[in-house]
Amino acid sequence: MKNKYTPIIGLEIHVELNTKSKMFCGCPANHFGVEPNTQVCPVCYGLPGALPIANEEAIRRTIKIGLALDAAIASHSKFDRKNYFYPDLPKGYQISQYDEPLCEGGEIDTSFGSVRLTRIHLEEDTAKIAHIKLTDEQKREAGVDNNQVSLIDFNRSGVPLVEIVTEADIHSAAQAREFAKKLVQILRYLDVSDCDMEKGALRLEANISVQTQAEAAAGQLPPYKVEIKNLNSFRFLERAINFEIDRHIQIRDKGKLPSQETRGWNDSQGYTYSQRSKEEAEDYRYFPDPDLPELKISAQMIETIAQELPSLPDQVKAQLITDYGLSDQNAEVLTSDRQVAEVGFQFLDQLKKQKLDIQAGVNALVNKKVVSWLLEPAVLVEKSEQEIQTEIVKTIEQIKSHYSFDKVAETDIDQVIKEVLSDKQLSTAVNSWRDGEDKIAGFLIGQVMHRIGKKVDAKIVANRLQQQR
Ligand SMILES: [Zn+2]
Repeated sequence: MKNKYTPIIGLEIHVELNTKSKMFCGCPANHFGVEPNTQVCPVCYGLPGALPIANEEAIRRTIKIGLALDAAIASHSKFDRKNYFYPDLPKGYQISQYDEPLCEGGEIDTSFGSVRLTRIHLEEDTAKIAHIKLTDEQKREAGVDNNQVSLIDFNRSGVPLVEIVTEADIHSAAQAREFAKKLVQILRYLDVSDCDMEKGALRLEANISVQTQAEAAAGQLPPYKVEIKNLNSFRFLERAINFEIDRHIQIRDKGKLPSQETRGWNDSQGYTYSQRSKEEAEDYRYFPDPDLPELKISAQMIETIAQELPSLPDQVKAQLITDYGLSDQNAEVLTSDRQVAEVGFQFLDQLKKQKLDIQAGVNALVNKKVVSWLLEPAVLVEKSEQEIQTEIVKTIEQIKSHYSFDKVAETDIDQVIKEVLSDKQLSTAVNSWRDGEDKIAGFLIGQVMHRIGKKVDAKIVANRLQQQR
């Protein structure tokens, strides 16, 4: 009954920028693995009277993302206060952007169709709450009554956060996954974020509903949507969306509507669960932040940033296919990550310089016929330029020994073939082969190669053998 309905999906993606300092103060932005509450100041804590100053580099990076995704860049923009209270936001509002985001529009192509972007805006991340169980000793030391405590780490408070919002152009979990992967790939090429989902540097949210045929015919969107929050892997995203689509269809099949709410995803159990109802739109009482001046983005600034844009994955992939004759699949592997692509080009140039078969060399690397870390982004980041060069040389040496052959004259090969074919002990096999048993050729080729005792190309042996059949 699935085809009675069309899934309507939009995504919201939060990306922490990898700038040196935070969005509105000078504290370091990289907070992973750092002792809690050591990278903080009155601005991070939201203390009364603390004054924010906008980080220009974060603004430039947001514009860079917008340009890479074909968005329109605003010439005038501003920061607004989004008012709500939560323990990780003690000043009672988050500095975000409301009606004048830095970027509007844009799109990303997927194999299922293009997905339009609504907007890209810049805001500050909140602090982070950890729910922890204390030992009895820790409890005494802290002077609290319960073992179960909630602690707040302000190192994350004020880290620049970009929010990318799509139109509801996505119609399957697979498309959502492809879109998210492609976006992350582009962000990594731009080097604006680490996009490490395990560390929370990239967080996915999906808005889902299913549309009936009647609604589709009338050009109407479904009268509800469900938001799934904090999906921190592509696999979670895909599984949670599929779960929701099925759940909505079951409800709508009964003539009812799923409730408008925010849900979470339990991956070990494989289901979504209700977190809070969203029957009424939240009112954040946005207003322009009086502490921050309005932003004027000059055409010249946009032009300068545009010139810094690197080649993006789709362009690099096309280049690998046309310039080096790589297969679509191999080009895809080599462009999965920006550093892999950079090293990949050096590797290809070496193959070319040494007049080696480029296709065979790339196949050997991609299909792991050689031991090499050249395609592993996590290893590459740890290595120096010198170590990478050495690895390229080592990899190519392995490929050469894998594919290179000793020089053996064809007349010598013919001589050995003659010996094998006249060997009395092999006469049964040879006769069957001559009678049309093609399968036996492999056995005979093996005999020939064994007697030659050197590395010869099996294809050449097969050819010469056929001529003596
Ligand atoms: Zn600070």
